[in-house]
Amino acid sequence: MPIYEYVCADCGELFEHFWPTIKAADEGQAPTCPGCGSRATQRIVSQVAVLGRLGGLTPGEQAAASAHEERLARITPREQIAKLQARKKKT
Ligand SMILES: [Zn+2]
Repeated sequence: MPIYEYVCADCGELFEHFWPTIKAADEGQAPTCPGCGSRATQRIVSQVAVLGRLGGLTPGEQAAASAHEERLARITPREQIAKLQARKKKT
């Protein structure tokens, strides 16, 4: 089961959302922020290692997830990711 991390553009809430399939994650609407209810959420790079550890993906899905993460990594500013990860560790 793919897990993606999202950040809320309104309140900065960082949260994870579970999708039944990679396809659903790609085609589904952004989930609602659990902090403030805003729909202005943006997907950020999630941890492929987490996906693998849960064992919910077939090798093909893992490859697709990895390719997807690489695409996301290229469009997400490295500084933003570092900031979000630092913030998450503290909370
Ligand atoms: Zn929010």
